Amino acid sequence: MKRIIYIPFDHLHRNYGALNGADPKHDVIAIVESARMTTGRNWHKERLFFLISSARHFAKLLEAEGFQVEYVKAPTTIDGLKSIQKKHKITEVICAEPSSHRQFAALHEFGATFIPNDFFLTPRPLFADWAGSQKSFLMENFYRLQRTRLNILIEKGKPTGGAWNFDKENRLPPPKKYDGPPYLEHKRDEIDLEVAKELGMSATTTWATTRKGALAQLKNFIDNHFAEFGPLEDAMTIDNWALHHSLLSPYLNNGLIHAEEVITAAVKAFDAGKIPIESCEGFIRQIIGWREYVNGMYWFLAPDYRENNQLNATRKLLPLFTDPNKTKMNCIKQTVTDINDRAWVHHIPRLMLLSNLALITGTNPQEFLDWMREVFIDASEWVMVPNVIGMGVHADGGAMMTKPYAAGGAYISRMSNYCKECEYNPKLRIGETACPFTTLYWDFLDRHKETFAKNHRMSQQFFGLNRLSDLPELKVRAQEVLTGLELGEI
Ligand SMILES: Cc1cc2nc3c(=O)[nH]c(=O)nc-3n(C[C@H](O)[C@H](O)[C@H](O)COP(=O)(O)OP(=O)(O)OC[C@H]3O[C@@H](n4cnc5c(N)ncnc54)[C@H](O)[C@@H]3O)c2cc1C
Ligand code: SF4
Repeated sequence: MKRIIYIPFDHLHRNYGALNGADPKHDVIAIVESARMTTGRNWHKERLFFLISSARHFAKLLEAEGFQVEYVKAPTTIDGLKSIQKKHKITEVICAEPSSHRQFAALHEFGATFIPNDFFLTPRPLFADWAGSQKSFLMENFYRLQRTRLNILIEKGKPTGGAWNFDKENRLPPPKKYDGPPYLEHKRDEIDLEVAKELGMSATTTWATTRKGALAQLKNFIDNHFAEFGPLEDAMTIDNWALHHSLLSPYLNNGLIHAEEVITAAVKAFDAGKIPIESCEGFIRQIIGWREYVNGMYWFLAPDYRENNQLNATRKLLPLFTDPNKTKMNCIKQTVTDINDRAWVHHIPRLMLLSNLALITGTNPQEFLDWMREVFIDASEWVMVPNVIGMGVHADGGAMMTKPYAAGGAYISRMSNYCKECEYNPKLRIGETACPFTTLYWDFLDRHKETFAKNHRMSQQFFGLNRLSDLPELKVRAQEVLTGLELGEI
């Protein structure tokens, strides 16, 4: 009997999900470009281009294999699937478990048959078992179990290199003048140009839209960047937009490449003696630790987790997030410009610049989350929600992280070269040239001192706050900064 196999835009792999075992003789492939997805929000064009062009390339590959592929445009996914059902007179729709609560509910109600989602290394029930047995959801504990369970960087039951993590070696500031290997450019074909035209943009060469391109990106990372990934993974520099980051998240998230393939390539390079342990461990931690943990937490936490606002943050999204000309803060201006250009910055600007600013200005978490979702190339719901609500702005009252990632200008100055060319001074907390991060960091601690009073991990920060002799002046300056930020003048 014939079946419809529904392939969402983030399940684009021939060997995983519902396509594993699919047969061109029996199966009709359904791919739906829903208006909800394309025009529902103010999406970054680069992101739409990447997602749509990848899906259209993937459809062509399946056609070349002999599949009958129905690539339809429809108001919603369900509308599209209904039209395909009608055309082919087939009722059964098979799909791998979708990656968001919303799509899961919609397809469940529609009557789709789910098969387990194997786009991750950790089955959802396995993660739920782990999380259900924990008092606090420490990523480090999960990660160590993953290393053992998956037998990665383990020798005779012990961690390779004698330690579970090499974080201390992996916190170098950027070099004086960074002169790294060039980044891959991805050539464009007819499909890319057609999609770019529909979107009213000219196609850039930053992101691949095919599996071949994604594999080339993986090879480029392994050959040219992996060895130096670790020590510089937290550094930020104006000299280079990606340093040694892999730039693999978009492909991991839309399925063009699978985590297992990335891990296999990484371990092979390490075993060949080409990669220092701190770089290898640091990278493996991101893939089998952070990525799996965040996905696991998304499914473990309730669907309404994204609505958390436990610090009662009510400020509207600041204009600088959408227009880099609305700020004089060099770090933010550069970061938002980078996002406008490529829909990507690495984890430290996301955490210690953008989220930190949203946190210490008391920006509404949902407004900030919506903006982050719209502008990043790799922003799927499952990954943005825990990263922003839990890690970035601590809106969940500490359910995921034991303390908020709030920091002043000193951290940014140490880990980047933004401050040298800035109008503000990271060392100053009061006065017109005080760094807004530094002023607002202390103001944030003071505003929330009761909430965090019993948090032992923050005792040093409060010790510092209690020693500030200029707190009254700082509180006045903080109000000026907040008003200036709202007016786009700081
Ligand atoms: C506030 C915030 C928001 C984020 N939003 C996203 C998002 O929408 N989509 C996304 O894929 N990643 C997100 N991340 C994680 C991380 O910033 C990106 O995965 C990374 O910058 C992508 O670039 P890369 O592929 O070069 O990563 P690398 O630095 O080379 O890391 C390798 C891989 O590790 C995985 N990874 C590392 N950290 C995380 C993490 N915290 N959560 C999930 N995966 C991780 C990614 O798949 C990444 O490709 C976010 C992090 C923060 C702090
Ligand atoms: S001084 Fe402050 S605002 Fe300016 S770049 Fe440094 S951290 Fe950013």
